[in-house]
Amino acid sequence: MRDELAAQFKSWNLPAYRVDQVLKWLHEKRVAAWSEMTNLPKPLRDQLAGQFSLHTLELVRKQGSRDTTQKFLWKLADGAMIESVLIPANPALYGEASDRLTLCVSTQVGCAYGCKFCASGLDGWKRNLRVEEIVGQIHAVERWHETNAERETGNAEQETTGAPDAPVAAPRSALPAPRLINNLVIMGMGEPLANYDNLLKALRILNAPWGGGIGARKITISTSGLAPQIRKLAEDPLQFRLAISLHGATDETRNKIMPVNRRYNLAELTSACEDYQRKRDRMITLEYILIAGVNDALRETKPLAALAHRLNAKVNLIPYNKVDGLQWVRPTEDVQEAFLAALEKHDVTATLRREKGHDIDAACGQLRLKTERELAQS
Ligand code: SF4
Repeated sequence: MRDELAAQFKSWNLPAYRVDQVLKWLHEKRVAAWSEMTNLPKPLRDQLAGQFSLHTLELVRKQGSRDTTQKFLWKLADGAMIESVLIPANPALYGEASDRLTLCVSTQVGCAYGCKFCASGLDGWKRNLRVEEIVGQIHAVERWHETNAERETGNAEQETTGAPDAPVAAPRSALPAPRLINNLVIMGMGEPLANYDNLLKALRILNAPWGGGIGARKITISTSGLAPQIRKLAEDPLQFRLAISLHGATDETRNKIMPVNRRYNLAELTSACEDYQRKRDRMITLEYILIAGVNDALRETKPLAALAHRLNAKVNLIPYNKVDGLQWVRPTEDVQEAFLAALEKHDVTATLRREKGHDIDAACGQLRLKTERELAQS
């Protein structure tokens, strides 16, 4: 944070403008090494390098290309792997209309919540991401685009494998590139609100004018239903958007696929969401992954519509992306469309994600799982 850096610089008897210089290098020019901060004296650069690590995420693998969903698999300093997903501009999904892109960000290595349909939790939870690892995903994707995007074509099947241990290079230009990403959805690997403190600190940095400069209203935090943390978030001064990974509108359905529901059932979750809305006056989004034979029956639309009306929420329907080794499948397009139509008949604002990511290990956590298993075999 700015005040922490300012306190450190003050203790080193450095002038205040040095703080702004460093923040500019970090957040505007998005450099990957202290040595690249060329307007700082060399002794200060060495001092910073000795005191703070500036580890950048290393690209292991990338799938998709500039006109489609692009998935990045990153290696962290301790060798753990996480995913970030860059989603083409689509005002219907989150936030307001935008010609920029949305990045789906991870918050944990693995996940402890064990939703039955999800690849992220299959190998369990390893650790929370640190603040710089959350912020670093945005920087790394933007750096990648600044150096590589011109070479990209519209080929959706493109896959890039990073050179082993190659950090994403910093842009060569002395001028900061315009911000590529101006919408964030915090719904990658992990349960975001289980890493509450690091996440909120990272989002303050990404929101701050001296940091990422991304509006709080363009940042959507998703949760599988951690009711106490939703109530805590309601007290936060920043106006982040909230999405609930619902995937079932009755306890019976949610209990089958989301163990978190046994801890915080729908009544508890709904009450926390109402508390959030009373304090924030923000529209909530209900995420609903359509899984064949599990939650796609038309009878499910009635309780879902009732919940959406009670919370004044809109519903995002997401056809299930197949995960290797799991038995679940996505419903046919006819079933998806019928589910959407039934919701609309109940006067619910709903969208159906007709995404292109199905062919590129699009399920959250799938690319990491596949890569880790390939590495273990070789
Ligand atoms: S859906 Fe979210 S909360 Fe559930 S296991 Fe996957 S990452 Fe964790």
